[in-house]
Amino acid sequence: MSSTQARHTRRAVLQAAVDAGARCARMDSDMWFRADGEPDTDWQTRRTTAQRICASCPARAACEELALRNGDGEPDVDDLVRAGYTGPELAAIRAHQERRLTAAVAADQDTDGRQLRDLTVLVQTEAISTLDQRQHGARRSTAKVQAEQSHLIRMLTARINEIRTARRARAGWGVAA
Ligand code: SF4
Repeated sequence: MSSTQARHTRRAVLQAAVDAGARCARMDSDMWFRADGEPDTDWQTRRTTAQRICASCPARAACEELALRNGDGEPDVDDLVRAGYTGPELAAIRAHQERRLTAAVAADQDTDGRQLRDLTVLVQTEAISTLDQRQHGARRSTAKVQAEQSHLIRMLTARINEIRTARRARAGWGVAA
């Protein structure tokens, strides 16, 4: 796997975590971005509200890692909030953690990274299959089959979490997804 593919794989895992838990997904996304020409006082009030919501977001850690990996935030531009941080704060964190980020991206290429990718695809496939069967009624699947699929998804998810925790520890990402 090339380093570009590896980054995309890790990004997909992080994006899935954000998609599953993002509090902002159910709100007006404009709240997290400063409008063109918006006065400082208006933006600062909204920015504080957005940061408060991020603070209790279950996807915050994944959101932070994704934002850092994506290069969000600029040192002199205060125009967004991601993972509870302003653009300049994200830029400062990224500069401070450059070596750790580089190591984390490199870790995406290891065996665990490939396992994570494969397991994530399996979970998604099983989840889609289960949803599809539920939508099309019991004639296409028995309750027993659905229970077995749910059990398999739980086992795969547990294995993903084990691998992810070990990789976080190795890469120094103590809290990220
Ligand atoms: S941490 Fe904030 S920006 Fe990130 S997903 Fe959660 S609510 Fe959205």
